[in-house]
Amino acid sequence: MNIILLGPPGAGKGTQARHLVETRGMVQLSTGDMLREAKSSGTEMGKVVADVMARGALVTDDIVIGLIREKLAAGAEGGFIFDGFPRTLPQADALAELLAYEGQSLDRVIELQVDENVLIDRIVGRAQEAAAAGQPVREDDNAESLKTRLIAYYKQTSPLVGYYYAKGKLTRVDGLGSIDAVQDEIAIALDGSSTANT
Ligand code: AMP
Repeated sequence: MNIILLGPPGAGKGTQARHLVETRGMVQLSTGDMLREAKSSGTEMGKVVADVMARGALVTDDIVIGLIREKLAAGAEGGFIFDGFPRTLPQADALAELLAYEGQSLDRVIELQVDENVLIDRIVGRAQEAAAAGQPVREDDNAESLKTRLIAYYKQTSPLVGYYYAKGKLTRVDGLGSIDAVQDEIAIALDGSSTANT
């Protein structure tokens, strides 16, 4: 089963993706993680994207599509969770083509719906918690970059909600519930069962 977790920054995509990896043996493909890795290991591509990411803007479609192409070719027995990809309509079209090329398809798109004010609190809280624990704080978890990230989401990514709704793939989940409640809603969307006992 291949799924997309769609939602603005701070909606809980990464947290939910990790749970699906643990409970279902799925493979998480986070383009944000891949780009941060490229940045910290100082590759050419990492240097190109560093500034764009720090600002909170989107990197070019070609770069992220290239990253996903490589990973898809490796295959995943438990299926893929796309986390933070696609973020634009051209990326969504490219994903459909890449999956078809691998003889695969997209099963479901989960939209995590979260109020904008909660997002800002969550992200600022995440940065403060990391700082207090002496952990690295994401360079783009500051008020200015966050504003750009939210605008990028509403302008460039949110049209994907309609795109997948029209394809009959979309399930909307209330992302404001507890982590467990959101997990359960996602489980129901994926297979009609609850993960409460697992
Ligand atoms: P994330 O960890 O998903 O919040 O991504 C962090 C940053 O990486 C974003 O703000 C963008 O600059 C960049 N990024 C991640 N995924 C994509 C994508 N699919 N398309 C364009 N830029 C991306």
